[in-house]
Amino acid sequence: MNVTILGSTGSIGANTLQVIAMHPERFQVFALTAQSNLEAMLAQCVSFKPRYAVMRDPDVAAQLEQRLKKLSVDTQVLGGEDALINVASHPEVDTVMACIVGAAGLLPTLAAAEAGKRILLANKEALVMSGALLLAAVEKNGATLLPVDSEHNAIFQCMPPDFRVGYASAAVNRVIITASGGAFRDLPLDQLEQVTPEQACRHPNWVMGPKITVDSASMMNKGLEIIEASFLFGLGQDKLEVVLHPQSIVHSLVEYPDGSLLAQLGQPDMRTPIAVALAWPERIASGVQRLDLIQVGRLDFQPLCLQRYPCLRLAYDALSAGGTAATILNGANEVAVQAFLARKICFTDIPKLLEAVLSKVSSRESDHLSTVLAADQMARDAAYSYIGSHVVAAATRELSVGD
Ligand code: NAD
Ligand code: MG
Repeated sequence: MNVTILGSTGSIGANTLQVIAMHPERFQVFALTAQSNLEAMLAQCVSFKPRYAVMRDPDVAAQLEQRLKKLSVDTQVLGGEDALINVASHPEVDTVMACIVGAAGLLPTLAAAEAGKRILLANKEALVMSGALLLAAVEKNGATLLPVDSEHNAIFQCMPPDFRVGYASAAVNRVIITASGGAFRDLPLDQLEQVTPEQACRHPNWVMGPKITVDSASMMNKGLEIIEASFLFGLGQDKLEVVLHPQSIVHSLVEYPDGSLLAQLGQPDMRTPIAVALAWPERIASGVQRLDLIQVGRLDFQPLCLQRYPCLRLAYDALSAGGTAATILNGANEVAVQAFLARKICFTDIPKLLEAVLSKVSSRESDHLSTVLAADQMARDAAYSYIGSHVVAAATRELSVGD
């Protein structure tokens, strides 16, 4: 099976390569792609010898080409966004692991859907910003969409045999999505304003890229996942429940009318859902340590405090508003997280920024790609202008305090 990995130098990309390396007879790496991490891509090309390597940044692509030539590695190097689309839709590719972070993953993932590929979807932002269009492209072109996000992969595994991605299953009462609570689960609320990017990037259970780790701390990750689940499982928000589960062992659950709750349990290690999606419906080894229930000892479940996590409420609101509301929320959140990581805004400004953008940019029907991309851009512009005025206001405050 020929595999393209979109975002191979990231956390999910590296985990995917680890699983693939355990099954050389089954998977061949056809193409690897990344934004600009030259050294990581070089090492991956040396190990996996893909046919193509794509760097989003064309200057880095040129450097990669030279370095690979010196090492006599026979990988063709391409640069730019079109190249991402080409390797996602290439006729010789069977499977595309979509693990670029953020809206940047949408167009190549759509291209994979339009080319009828088997898509392993980690890039939840693509689904949140354009779920209806992505699912329609999957359906129209006979593509297959398999969720990699651990909760959605767990739900997928617990669904009845006739389940089809994108369609509600009549046998399912509701799904319960578990949430670890992120880095600040136990921090007193009045200390949230002072937290640093370093603290936000320290997740208690999972090792992940910076954006999703900050999203986990703000609970926006769970908000995005609620929207992701509504598309993947065809469920309204009344059937999507979130519970806090600090151990991250039960990855999510599906409730049936007979009273059964089916759950998937495992280590908090993304190689499990990656291996499930790579081999589905077969099962393969993933390299993940066995789960020792005696060692785990106990599993706790608690209600979520919406006061601590205002982002979750905003996501529920965007889901019920429909149209491009989720696109706007997602675009604004990407800008907010970047600004927080760059220390331009504080952690508690993230929901304030989102609220301001959502009230400024109105939602439209999301029936065309151009509408979705325009909504994403408007949300980003509004978010930048919020940050601009916020930074100016903070500087003015400091000046007047200094005076
Ligand atoms: P990451 O930041 O570690 O890696 C992101 C990858 O995308 C890198 O290879 C980077 O080069 C590439 N990339 C970034 N911007 C790009 C751009 N503009 N154009 C092209 N390539 C670009 O992120 P991650 O933690 O691996 O997460 C990837 C996706 O998977 C996210 O959507 C995240 O929400 C989702 N996800 C991750 C985890 C996890 O455990 N890390 C779990 C569930 C879902
Ligand atoms: Mg998840």
